[in-house]
Amino acid sequence: MLIMNSTLTQLRCINCGSTTKASVAIAAGEQWMTCPACSPSEGILDIEYDLDAVRRSWEKRPLSDRPLNHWRYHELLPLAADQIPRGWQVGWTPIVDTARLAQELGLRSLRVKDDGRNPSGSLKDRASSVGMAHALQIGADTVACASTGNAATSLACHAALAGKAARIFVPHTAPEPKLAQLLVYGAKVFAVEGTYDEAYQLCSAACDRFGWYNRNCAINPVLVEGKKTAGLEVAEQSALAGEVPDWVAVSVGDGCTIAGIWKGLVEMHTLGVIDRLPRLLGVQAAGVAPIDYAMTHDALPEVGDGSTIADSIDVPVPRNWRKAVQALRESDGVVVCVTDEQLLDAIRLGGKHGIFAEPAAAAALAGIVAGVESKLLGAEDRVLAMMTGTGLKDIRSSTRAGGAPTRIKPSLDEVAVALEQA
Ligand SMILES: *Cc1c(COP(=O)(O)O)cnc(C)c1O
Ligand SMILES: [Zn+2]
Repeated sequence: MLIMNSTLTQLRCINCGSTTKASVAIAAGEQWMTCPACSPSEGILDIEYDLDAVRRSWEKRPLSDRPLNHWRYHELLPLAADQIPRGWQVGWTPIVDTARLAQELGLRSLRVKDDGRNPSGSLKDRASSVGMAHALQIGADTVACASTGNAATSLACHAALAGKAARIFVPHTAPEPKLAQLLVYGAKVFAVEGTYDEAYQLCSAACDRFGWYNRNCAINPVLVEGKKTAGLEVAEQSALAGEVPDWVAVSVGDGCTIAGIWKGLVEMHTLGVIDRLPRLLGVQAAGVAPIDYAMTHDALPEVGDGSTIADSIDVPVPRNWRKAVQALRESDGVVVCVTDEQLLDAIRLGGKHGIFAEPAAAAALAGIVAGVESKLLGAEDRVLAMMTGTGLKDIRSSTRAGGAPTRIKPSLDEVAVALEQA
């Protein structure tokens, strides 16, 4: 059953608009996850809240009195208050002011929200922790997901924290560090000899057949609520710092992250925490950019044979493209596409300013650099980059960007010679 918070009102289909009352108890399994009137791939649901009730609850117990993690927003999550897990420290990641980098790029300001500091090293911990808490709430014993990597590792991490079993479907090309992380967390890992899309279909079918809780973000509306907390935090932390950004740059794969962040920003705007809304800068890999296409065509392109080193956004068939396109349009946003070379440059650039990012996370920065070059962004703009995952996630790309160390004998003379060559 989808039992929850008293602040939660209904689920709305983003395709046909029909609504289901949250108070309607829905049988366990996947049936409740998508719109009964639409096809499961089109009828993605969105969870809605009574924001006046949220405001009243925040007046009674102000945000300033709450723990510094994303559970502080529990009225805006589909979880009963007494079902908030204790000791899962997710979110409230720092926003780093990279003033030197802003100056270098000619921006008014540039700040970086470092979500690589979450428990398993990526923003996906926000979604997986909320999904896992929800799975516990409905009594699921086994959770499953298909992922290019980070969604899976974060789910495996939280299944381990909860003492539950995780079943993971990854494309066999997933980077080794992510696979290692999954296996160390004790998940059962199926490395599917196929694309992400095939792994995804297989996982859905397995959830139906074996009755597992499906963590797949695109169809499970609970997960997007977790990703939303990044937007809630950007708003609250920006308000505390006295600087609401003009732009928030986010890399886009399936589209749930950017859609979730937008939802969080809008809710905080409605609640009066911020007085205006930023524009979204969606960043895709030039080789795999279906959302860029969908922005102008209102449909997905044919699957091409392009590729990218940014495995976390290598999603040729994004499940949540409607939500992402809606968010981008509502925010008066723009999509930019970046090449692998630009991604590697952005990894190096971030590193020089103390930020260690995997390619899909450096994409936000690469998009900002591209935006500066095309004069979309300039001296007036205050920009915030979402760093979605740490550089330890993909050592091969980090090594490509970083280069090789200088190899020497243990001799001071060799140090001196090497310094001269540098
Ligand atoms: C998943 C992920 C993204 C993109 O999120 P989507 O919801 O797929 O658009 C970006 N960066 C990293 C590091 C990710 O793991
Ligand atoms: Zn519908």
